Amino acid sequence: NAKSHGRGSITWFHDGMVQDLVARFDVETALEQALQQGGLRLFLQPKVIDGAPGRHFEVLLRLDHPERGIIEPGRFIDIAEATGLIVPIGAWVLEEACKLLAEHDDLHLAVNVSVRQFLRESFIDDVAALLETYQFDPERLTLEMTESLMIANFDLALSQLRKIRDMKIRLSIDDFGTGYSALVYLKQFPLNELKIDKTFIAGVPHDSNDTSLVELIITMAHHLGISIVAEGVETVEQAAWLRAHGCEGLQGFLFSRPQPADHYLTPPP
Ligand code: C2E
Ligand code: MG
Ligand code: MG
Ligand code: MG
Repeated sequence: NAKSHGRGSITWFHDGMVQDLVARFDVETALEQALQQGGLRLFLQPKVIDGAPGRHFEVLLRLDHPERGIIEPGRFIDIAEATGLIVPIGAWVLEEACKLLAEHDDLHLAVNVSVRQFLRESFIDDVAALLETYQFDPERLTLEMTESLMIANFDLALSQLRKIRDMKIRLSIDDFGTGYSALVYLKQFPLNELKIDKTFIAGVPHDSNDTSLVELIITMAHHLGISIVAEGVETVEQAAWLRAHGCEGLQGFLFSRPQPADHYLTPPP
């Protein structure tokens, strides 16, 4: 502790704060270098969707660090958001996903978009430009966003969502149930899909609170014409229960862990 160095020493930081700052600086530098030097990677995880033709995956970003190897977003997304680096990083992810969609015509991809990225007015023009450049059926692209900041910026969110929907791109709410889950937005937002957060799926089929909530979410979504994907499906029992209760999409380690994109997609010659 800096205080223990006695009178006259600098006492603004305690050790934990210094470590936080150093760790944060490392990650920020690593992110900037990865952006400039080609160190970002797309991983893909299958989305198993009953009755839907084609191949469906979620795009999950990884940082490939020269010394530390593959780093998962839990270690860097918050810092990318706080520093604003999420905007150029998110733009890179979206463009790479569009390239893959242009190269493989049976492919469907869901891309995670930070609400901070989505609520920028320029996002709409950026997406329109990508559709123009890469010329794929926009229904093969889904954008996944979390609900929290959407509610706090309701009018802007609604107008951005409508513009994206007008381009025929699909819209999904990620981690559904962990944010504010205000029912009013389900009625007004032009959504195609809800992804039930894995914390609820973890209790299926044994925890009666979780199964009640999941049944309720599925029923509610279906009444509104919105399809459901369960995330974090790890057991055969969960998959069977979810299918029996009308959940059309399943995603989780039971089927596959996220893998580098070229594990699933061979680049064209
Ligand atoms: P998410 O979009 O909710 O993605 C699901 C996360 O759950 C992924 O973690 C995935 O690897 C993990 N997962 C999948 N199946 C299972 C399972 O059966 N059990 C468990 N315990 N976990 C499972 P990942 O890849 O570490 O990504 C974490 C979060 O980082 C994502 O959550 C998403 O919010 C964010 N993220 C990832 N890529 C991007 C991106 O390109 N842009 C933005 N803005 N956020 C991203
Ligand atoms: Mg997601
Ligand atoms: Mg999720
Ligand atoms: Mg999640």
